Amino acid sequence: MVREDEFVALCRSHGLAATHQRRVIYATVASLHGHPSPELIYEKVKKKIPSISLATVYNNVRTFLASGMLREVSMHHGSLRVEPNNHEHHHLVCVRCRSITDLHAKNLGLLRLKTQPRGFRVTRIAVDVLGICAACAAKEVSK
Ligand SMILES: [Zn+2]
Ligand SMILES: [Zn+2]
Repeated sequence: MVREDEFVALCRSHGLAATHQRRVIYATVASLHGHPSPELIYEKVKKKIPSISLATVYNNVRTFLASGMLREVSMHHGSLRVEPNNHEHHHLVCVRCRSITDLHAKNLGLLRLKTQPRGFRVTRIAVDVLGICAACAAKEVSK
């Protein structure tokens, strides 16, 4: 569980009110160590807050995304997947099973733009490496 004081500070720096519900949702996303969908987050949060609805989880996830506390993972995935917005990395996306794996920034070499796009303020460079994951590749071989 994310420490109460840390969560309050994090919310404050992102301009959000730190509610109990939000703390549980955020802690759940952090504890899943992956790229959960709102549905999966809801399944886990429900165990701690049985009265919560999927719509409430969605709303809070969207609020976290808008504030920058969570970020949306790969558009290639096809459905909403989120993760805490606290460390820089890229993603390996399997085009078969749509799995998403973290790719550490240091494994991609230095990324920078050769020319600054006019009028566009770059906040982050994120790369999706598309391909076929080991599990899907193994299935292909055994066919
Ligand atoms: Zn795959
Ligand atoms: Zn990731």
